Amino acid sequence: MIYDCIVIGSGAAGLTVSFGLKTAGKKILIIERDEPGGECTWNGCIPSKSFISYSKTGIDLKVALEKVREKIFEIARAENSDVIMKKGIDFVKGKAVFISKTEVKVNGEIYSGKNIVIATGSRPYIPKISGLEKVEFLTNENFFKETDNFKSIVMIGGGVISLELSFALKKFGIDVTILELGKRFLPMEDIEVGDFYKEKLSQEGIKLILDCGEIKIEKHGEKTVVKCAEREFETEKLFLSVGRAANLEELDLEKIGIKFDKKGIFVNKYLQTTVKEVYAVGDVVGPYRFSHIAGYHGEIVIRNIIFPYIKKKAEYENISWAIFSNPEFSRVGMSEEEARSKNLRIRVYTLLESENDRSIVSLENQFKLKVICDSKFNILGASCIGERAGEIINLLQLLKSQNLKFYKMVNSVQAYPTYGDSVRKLAKKAYGDYLKEIISFKL
Ligand SMILES: Cc1cc2nc3c(=O)[nH]c(=O)nc-3n(C[C@H](O)[C@H](O)[C@H](O)COP(=O)(O)OP(=O)(O)OC[C@H]3O[C@@H](n4cnc5c(N)ncnc54)[C@H](O)[C@@H]3O)c2cc1C
Repeated sequence: MIYDCIVIGSGAAGLTVSFGLKTAGKKILIIERDEPGGECTWNGCIPSKSFISYSKTGIDLKVALEKVREKIFEIARAENSDVIMKKGIDFVKGKAVFISKTEVKVNGEIYSGKNIVIATGSRPYIPKISGLEKVEFLTNENFFKETDNFKSIVMIGGGVISLELSFALKKFGIDVTILELGKRFLPMEDIEVGDFYKEKLSQEGIKLILDCGEIKIEKHGEKTVVKCAEREFETEKLFLSVGRAANLEELDLEKIGIKFDKKGIFVNKYLQTTVKEVYAVGDVVGPYRFSHIAGYHGEIVIRNIIFPYIKKKAEYENISWAIFSNPEFSRVGMSEEEARSKNLRIRVYTLLESENDRSIVSLENQFKLKVICDSKFNILGASCIGERAGEIINLLQLLKSQNLKFYKMVNSVQAYPTYGDSVRKLAKKAYGDYLKEIISFKL
């Protein structure tokens, strides 16, 4: 049988493509080497956000991790192979290898598809560190499988995963140290954001060592000793989070002429690889490695397979994301530094906790919403630090993606005292500037 589409991998990207194409009446085969759900369900978004929630409940680490695993299974139940097959999608468990541009081999069987979608995701990148081979270490793949309490952890890599988990770990009474090679914390965000979280980590008693220099690891009895520059840290657990590697080596991509580099598979704006019948989506492509981008890629490919003559492009100007830290951080579009580096004429609007009634009544002493507009009040980007930053950014994402000028939000009356009303309050500042411009122009 020739399938309309073979999907390799059933994480957020693969499941989106498969379910969408099935709804459109296509004959689909999913090939998955593990359980469906991918990194997000098993080792990523679900366990990490659940872990953060349980860290606020007062239970101990061991119990919290058991509860996290229950949440993983609750989510995984809704996307397991039975659910997939009940929808009429064929499912084969095994590793897929390309045979030709329309054929893949799994467990010795060859399957043919008019289109093939690579949705094989990513895994933790493991750098070369002297002594690492002598110790056991954690990554996001085994951290949530831990079954015992522990007292100390050194996290190598000061990125989003460490920033999210470290506050929660500290709440469980664990001594946390983060070692980061870079001189600047959260270098992709405005400098004030990195500075804010640096200060917050220090207030919570979490050690952050920037510009840590070469790291060496030694085993001293039961303990692991992590050395860098002139310092050393004795720890029970070592956690590595220094980036992601695309899962593409085992697919035999060279054989059929699909190009890639260590960052991921090369795709055009329609998400076709260098072999046009084969698409690639999600983390195995990048540049943004989030579940919602995996889903977005998936939706584009559904559309491009169903309507090949009116293809849709992947666009990234309106991408938003959240860091589920303490408090949350979120952004859509450009940062202020990015906008300034492009020499754009910008207007920057900010709302702080002292001006935000919702922060005041929520006893929230840290809130900063920043919206960057061009000279015509189009939103170039926005960012938020605060309790519900991940939700607040969705409203700005909607305004930006629909090309609504920021001041137009004054036309939408929001319930008081919600964060929606806080965004509107900031939009009123832009409206004031807009009115001033009109008046001065007429005069
Ligand atoms: C700790 C952590 C927290 C995160 N939190 C968030 C968050 O809060 N929000 C967010 O948006 N994103 C978050 N992410 C990112 C998110 O998990 C990923 O962006 C998302 O899982 C990518 O989906 P995907 O479908 O591209 O790949 P994956 O989810 O990795 O799925 C790929 C699938 O392909 C399978 N596979 C691989 N190779 C083969 C092969 N050769 N044959 C058959 N099957 C194969 C794998 O087994 C896997 O099931 C987090 C990530 C981590 C690590």
